[in-house]
Amino acid sequence: MRAYASPAAGLEDAMRLAEAMTHKWAVLDMPFGGGKCVIAPDAPLGVEGREALFRRYGGLLESLRGTFSSGVDVGVSPADMAVVALATRHVHGVDFTNGTTIDPGPYTARGVLHAIGASLEVAFGNPDPASRAVLVQGVGDVGRPLAELLAQAGADVLVSDIDQARARRVAAEIGGRSVAAEDALEAACDVLAPCAIGGILDDASVERLNCRIVAGSANAQLVEPRIADRLHERGIVYAPDFVANGGGAAALGLIALGEDEAAARRKVDGIGGTVREIFREAAAADETPLAAARRIVERRLAERRARPKQQASVG
Ligand code: NAD
Repeated sequence: MRAYASPAAGLEDAMRLAEAMTHKWAVLDMPFGGGKCVIAPDAPLGVEGREALFRRYGGLLESLRGTFSSGVDVGVSPADMAVVALATRHVHGVDFTNGTTIDPGPYTARGVLHAIGASLEVAFGNPDPASRAVLVQGVGDVGRPLAELLAQAGADVLVSDIDQARARRVAAEIGGRSVAAEDALEAACDVLAPCAIGGILDDASVERLNCRIVAGSANAQLVEPRIADRLHERGIVYAPDFVANGGGAAALGLIALGEDEAAARRKVDGIGGTVREIFREAAAADETPLAAARRIVERRLAERRARPKQQASVG
């Protein structure tokens, strides 16, 4: 949920994000197709307005009778999902056995940490983040727990956020350093972990990067797929976003399918292995990790299309 310049811009974003969900579920090899809903309020919402909006959204989801389920993403909190769940069971991140909500952010952060480890191994021959400088851009639902995990692992953590006070607060809490939001992309570091917004990497910004690795949670980090070639030419290892950031979707998706917390964690911990497989395929075929990841997606989608069973989409 966020403001858009026009309904067409919201529709375009929904389609782009839905495609990313398709890629994400395919790489995770989970039985869902990709879909996404964007909610574009045209004015700030009060508490009551927000609740009414999410109840209406729940009714809309219910009318789709399970062909589309929805979960937390930018601008939407687990508390909003609890309101949606009053109208429908087609939500991810709500435990209907006890009515509690599950935050995907920490699971996503854990998956990103594994993706960072796999990337460090390719770039430096050692997956250990200890003493590596990692800049986390955006310390919200995903970036905050990621910064904490990295600090616990002994990394030199730099954090930045458009909300500078938040960046300073998180830096103090985890024993890291804050960097001004406008300097984040140019900061000297081993790993840049984009965990704020998409579309941050284009021809100009890739030239300014001062890191060896890009691995983070933000959806659609590259303005166009060809930017992966620019990163490759500059010798920067890129863990494709839809692979690195699948932890939350994987965990909540499995829980929605009736699996337990331990199974969810195992799936999230598998992200490191998937990223390694992608780097291996990319090196063997002399292509970018993005091209290798997309090939895996196409292979899985072809396998699924060949199966007769109908599947629901989730975003
Ligand atoms: P969030 O809204 O909780 O946090 C985003 C943070 O980034 C906020 O602190 C915000 O102030 C900051 N920010 C916004 N614009 C910025 C900018 N231009 N520069 C620096 N900081 C900026 O969102 P989140 O749930 O942590 O998600 C972060 C990203 O990861 C999003 O792109 C989201 O789509 C993606 N993602 C999230 C999840 C999840 O489990 N929450 C899963 C997959 C992907």
